Amino acid sequence: MSGLANALEPALGASDGIWLGWSGREEPGDPALALDAERTPARATFHLRPEWRRHYQDGFCNQALWPLLHSFPSRVRYSTADWNTYVEVNDVYARFATELVDHDGVIWVHDYHLLLVAQSLRTMGYDGAVGLFLHAPFPEPDVFATLPWGDDLLAAMCAFDLVGFHTDRWADNFRACVRAAQKTLRVPKITVHPIAIDPSRFQPRPCALDGDIARLRNAVGSRRIVLGVDRLDYAKGIPERLRAFDRLLAAKPEWHDRVCFVQISVPSREHVPGYAELRHEVEALVGRINGRYGEADWVPVHYLYRSYEPVVLAQLYREADVALVTPLRDGMNLVAKEFVAAQDAENPGVLVLSQFAGASAELTDAIITNPYHPDGLAEDLERALCMSRAERCERYTTLAAAVGRMSPRSWTERFTCQLHGAFRSANDEVQ
Ligand code: UDP
Repeated sequence: MSGLANALEPALGASDGIWLGWSGREEPGDPALALDAERTPARATFHLRPEWRRHYQDGFCNQALWPLLHSFPSRVRYSTADWNTYVEVNDVYARFATELVDHDGVIWVHDYHLLLVAQSLRTMGYDGAVGLFLHAPFPEPDVFATLPWGDDLLAAMCAFDLVGFHTDRWADNFRACVRAAQKTLRVPKITVHPIAIDPSRFQPRPCALDGDIARLRNAVGSRRIVLGVDRLDYAKGIPERLRAFDRLLAAKPEWHDRVCFVQISVPSREHVPGYAELRHEVEALVGRINGRYGEADWVPVHYLYRSYEPVVLAQLYREADVALVTPLRDGMNLVAKEFVAAQDAENPGVLVLSQFAGASAELTDAIITNPYHPDGLAEDLERALCMSRAERCERYTTLAAAVGRMSPRSWTERFTCQLHGAFRSANDEVQ
């Protein structure tokens, strides 16, 4: 959530907004709202009961909606108990929101955890503006149709005054799902509005390398660095990427001892089924590649199962010659934008980007790749490694312009301005 927090915090702080969300704690009993007015923006948080954590967060959010929205129907687990808890927890959020906001205020809901909140708010008598931004993709109707409560979910999403997506593709899929619903539903106002980053946060400061990055640089020496940075999630395509690297080393021995693949895998959802298996699969692949090709003084894959602060990440982005950002599906993918922001304009690295990442709609001058095809991905990686400086600079210029086109502040302001407009026009229609 760090990218989202960075985008929203300044704007929320400037407008006396309040950030309402889960405290991250799990406790039995009815939750109460804790308000921290010292922080900017003010934070209002509450705990989740253990059964909510199990059925809402780990259950419906992460085992039903996450794979569904990312078009992995074979990974979904649909449980009526999970759905009922999702309805219950969305009501809890809506109730707390009504305690914080005047009935004619503005509420901006983020992501797939809270798709029912507008409907709950309306039932509770709230008649102010309420918008949704979905940071995940949206699937095609055939995939969405697997959700047993699909019509109820779409009806609730249509209760928002404005629904935002990162790309036209996700917005078109949502419209198609609403049209394909059994119930007659009215498509809400939709905006396609890709989230922005603050490039200056990723431009490395003129200071010594962080200890870890310096040690890594030392171990890699003059070899080229190929970098992957992801939460350890099946949607990110990490095993597919490792297989492509394996193919490159198998097909092109001339790259042996000349390139290192650094993969940062941020621990994620470790108690959700499927994630532990993924971790084992990735670790087995790393071991296999290093076992097959490694030499006493060359480790082909440096695998780091941990997370780094953005300032450290910025240094790593800058050290890398190639970033492999190859999710099988991703709403946006901020790492792709951050990597571009961190590059040296005189000698930039190359971005290899999945055609299935939302970021590919804006970053068209990356090497756009198909992560499902290991040989193709290996070829694209080699192309990136061999790219001339002139071509790297040319591509970087357009990529950096795309990354700098919007700021987090303008992203937030534009959405809230559109939300006011959508709310006014909906009310004008009613009168
Ligand atoms: N990130 C980080 N430390 C790390 C790895 C990642 O702070 O070690 C941040 C990264 O800077 C980015 C976010 O995590 O802002 C990941 O966002 P992205 O959209 O790429 O993927 P998500 O995890 O939201 O699916």
